[in-house]
Amino acid sequence: MTRLYGGVETGGTWCVCAIGAGPEAIVREEQFPNSGPDETLDRITEFFRAGPTLDAIGIGSFGPVDVDPRSPTWGYVTTTPKKGWRHVAVAPVLRDRLGVPVAFDHDVAAAALGEYRWGAGDQAGALSYLTVGTGIGAGLLIDGTPWHGLIHPEVGHLRIPHDRDRDPFPGACPMHGDCWEGLASGPAIEQRWGMPGSELPDEHPAWELEAEYLALGILSIVCVFSPRRIVAGGGVMERSGLLEKVRARLRGLLGGYLENPLLGDEIDAFLVPPALGDRAGVLGAIALAEGARPR
Ligand code: ZN
Repeated sequence: MTRLYGGVETGGTWCVCAIGAGPEAIVREEQFPNSGPDETLDRITEFFRAGPTLDAIGIGSFGPVDVDPRSPTWGYVTTTPKKGWRHVAVAPVLRDRLGVPVAFDHDVAAAALGEYRWGAGDQAGALSYLTVGTGIGAGLLIDGTPWHGLIHPEVGHLRIPHDRDRDPFPGACPMHGDCWEGLASGPAIEQRWGMPGSELPDEHPAWELEAEYLALGILSIVCVFSPRRIVAGGGVMERSGLLEKVRARLRGLLGGYLENPLLGDEIDAFLVPPALGDRAGVLGAIALAEGARPR
């Protein structure tokens, strides 16, 4: 009998739930606004209680999150600045209400897993899924397993060079000002230029600056993690022409030092758009559920 899994992606703005076994085998799917923890957890519960019966549920949550299975606060959202969500027991609440094994990870780790299994990750042994949107984050997979380390990677808060003569904008991160996310996320673009990126024309200098910042952060990922491929998604990355600009700038920053065709003439096959679009997260949550163990 085919096993059936649930997937949940909780984002800062939206929550997506799905039931199925992969991108071609989705039984039900629903998206609703993230309207605070109580209402959101109730809607997720209702969605899954409507059936059919599941073998397990996977959750990919915005973070920071506690993904340490030995921790008493495993499955919690922890120090998020998002209103009402600090120290909310997302996975334990859903596990207790629904009575099925639950797997839990960071939303970008889930998206990385989705792309690894069914999309542009193409089973790459060292894979990074980067999202640039409301925030910046990356999931790092080693042979299909999300790398956590002490907590989990939070690449959005890397520090990158900030030339204040060229760009006097102080940065949008509430904790750090001009960290990577503070300089290059969607809200940073909007605050710097006084309008959302979607309203800025292609020839606006915003995009050269954005490509510079994105390439600087990606260079750090390349130098530390040495991924075989980086899948770059999120609303900002959907901008026509931006990915090409970032690839060109990344090659420039590498300066020919790391010798591999994928960092040179074949960079189009190294830094790639997602194949699953904005469904990478919820599909990755289903992939996470496959590995869920009873607790
Ligand atoms: Zn920051």
